[in-house]
Amino acid sequence: MTGPTDGVTPAADDATAATASVTADTAAVVPVHAADADDSSTVTPADLPATAPAVDLGALVSTLAEPTGSADDLEAARATFRARLLDDRVLVDLGRPGLYGRSRAFERVMQAVRATWTAANADLEPDLLRFPPVITLPTFEQTDYIASFPDLAAAVSSFRGGDREHRELLAARAAGERWERFLEPADVMLTPAACHPVYALLSGQLPEGGRMFDVDGDSFRHEPSLDPMRLQAFHMHEFVHVGTPASARSHRDSHVEPMAELLRSFGLEIDVVPANDPFFGRVGKILARNQVAQSLKFEFITPVYGADQPWTAIASANLHEDHFGLAFGITTADGGTAHSACLAFGLERITLALFGVHGSDVDAWPAEARTALSL
Ligand SMILES: [Zn+2]
Repeated sequence: MTGPTDGVTPAADDATAATASVTADTAAVVPVHAADADDSSTVTPADLPATAPAVDLGALVSTLAEPTGSADDLEAARATFRARLLDDRVLVDLGRPGLYGRSRAFERVMQAVRATWTAANADLEPDLLRFPPVITLPTFEQTDYIASFPDLAAAVSSFRGGDREHRELLAARAAGERWERFLEPADVMLTPAACHPVYALLSGQLPEGGRMFDVDGDSFRHEPSLDPMRLQAFHMHEFVHVGTPASARSHRDSHVEPMAELLRSFGLEIDVVPANDPFFGRVGKILARNQVAQSLKFEFITPVYGADQPWTAIASANLHEDHFGLAFGITTADGGTAHSACLAFGLERITLALFGVHGSDVDAWPAEARTALSL
C-alpha cells in the first residue's frame, strides 16, 4: 500500500509485492506487473472467475503489454531514483534497506495526500480511529496473518531477565556478539496492516447499516529492499466498512473508479489490476491464485520505473468477504456473518510516486497536480 496485505486467505491487503492483471471479459492471457521479478505469475483464462465481479473490469482493468524492460535496467532505475531522493534530501538514509527519515518536503506532500484522500471520503461519515504501531498478540493471532505471511511479520521483544541475565547480555555485547537472544517475546507484534486492529473491536453484533471507519496508521513488513518504493515501515490510510455481504462489496466496488480518478488528478498514470499478494510457501501459491481468480483485491499501479517495467502498487481496494467476520465473531444486524472491505492509500508510496513523476521541487510541480492536492 504501499504496499502487501490483510490476513490469510484472499483477504490479503494493502502492500503488495506482485500484481497480475487480467481482463475479465476476454480470453486473452494478460500482462503481469510484479514489483519483484521473482514474484511474478501469469494468469491464464482457466483462473478467471466463472461469474463476473460487480466491478466493470472491462472498463477499468489493464490492457498493458507485459513488461519488456530488462532486470538490469530496473535495478538501475531504482538506484537512480533512490540516489536522487537522498541527494535532494527528500528522504534521509538510515543505513538499512527500506528505512528512511522523512524531510519537510516529503511530509508536506504526504500530509496533502492524506488530507485530499480524507476529504474525498467525507461523505462516508466514518468514525475515526488511530492505533499504536503495535498490535496485541491475540488480535494478530486471530487475523491468521502468520499463516500467510510469516516472512513479513515481526514481533516485539523485551528484556525480562534479572541481574544475572543482564550481566550476560552486557558481556555478550562487550564481546561484540549479538545480544538480542537475551530478549523475550513482549506479547505484541508490529502492525502489518492498518485496518487489522479495527475488527477486534467489533466482535458481536453490528448495528443496522454496519460500521464505517477512517483508520490511518503504521504498517510494518519485513522485506528489506533498495527499491525506495518498498519500505519496511510505512503508513496506510484506510476507509473500512464492516456490514453485510452486499454493503461490503458495494463499499469496495463503488470506490474503485473514484480512487483511480483521484490518483490520476495528482498527475499519476494509473492502471487497476487484481492483486496477487506474495502468500508464503507452496500453499501460498494456491491462495494467490484464488485471490486473483476471485478478484477480491484491486491494486492501483503506476509506472515509477518506466512504462516497460513492472508498475508499482500505491493503493488498493479490498474485499475480505467473511474472513474477519468469522475470525472475530462479528455478525450483522440480521444475524449473518459480517463481511468487510477496505480502501487503502499507501501514503509513502503515493508520495514517492509523485516525487518520481514531478521531481524533487514541490513548488515546481505542474499547477494541476498542486491544485488537486491543495499544495
Ligand atoms: Zn485494510
